[in-house]
Amino acid sequence: MPLETVTRFAPSPTGDLHLGHAYSALVAASLGNGFTLRIDDIDHTRCRPQFVDGIYDDLQWLGLQWQGNPVFQSHRLEAYATALEDLRRRDLIYPCYLSRAELADVLSAPHTAPTATDTVLPASEQTRRAEEGREPAWRLRTADALRITGPLTWRDLRNGMDVPVDMKAHGDVVIARRDIGTSYHLSVVIDDQLDRITLVTRGADLSESTHVHRVLQALLDIQPPDYLHHDLVTDEAGTRLAKRDAARSLRQMREDGICATDIVGNMPKIPSVIEP
Ligand code: GLU
Repeated sequence: MPLETVTRFAPSPTGDLHLGHAYSALVAASLGNGFTLRIDDIDHTRCRPQFVDGIYDDLQWLGLQWQGNPVFQSHRLEAYATALEDLRRRDLIYPCYLSRAELADVLSAPHTAPTATDTVLPASEQTRRAEEGREPAWRLRTADALRITGPLTWRDLRNGMDVPVDMKAHGDVVIARRDIGTSYHLSVVIDDQLDRITLVTRGADLSESTHVHRVLQALLDIQPPDYLHHDLVTDEAGTRLAKRDAARSLRQMREDGICATDIVGNMPKIPSVIEP
């Protein structure tokens, strides 16, 4: 890896970490020359401080030392709001007042991605909801955005290819949730820029999100990092590990006196980096 490669490990403190997180942290630590620890705590409805302490303890137990101070998304709400305002000013996002149930109704098939949801409710009803003080979600005008950006790609260092951006699965993706005023997508794009991340390592379950991130980077004039999406750790039955599965948490393993070097030694191989 080039000396200047900076990666990050970005857990959400919504539960105890499991082996999948340990592997993710190990990939970040192995492929970066120093990794940033970012606590993804924008979702105040689900994040809990005790899980932040658990993250520190788990990483220390695993012998994985992050660089500098941990970074908290909850300290960066202003930066996200500024980026959102920029997109709003340029009319690249629109407010969506549909409830979850109304949204489900307008999508004909379960996996249809929402588009132009601002045309579903009559303007008078949208005004009424706004006057009532209802917060909207803010959605990207994806077709307009892609007209502005032109064709985009992101650099996939797992497969050594430039992947064409495809937004079909996302449609007019939510850029700011009504309850938290930002979204995973908007926040990580700003964070990775602020933290000067050069290589984003994360699980393969997030590779679809990279398409959205690349569009936002282009719109916000942000230099894109490279990406490596690693395989997910599964249990013996091949099922993805989940935070609710307390028996397999790293905390439980620590408390049971399991040796961290055994855990690290039994991890799947760290993927090699392949330049396109
Ligand atoms: N916080 C996210 C998670 O725990 C990861 C975000 C990212 O790596 O982009 O799944």
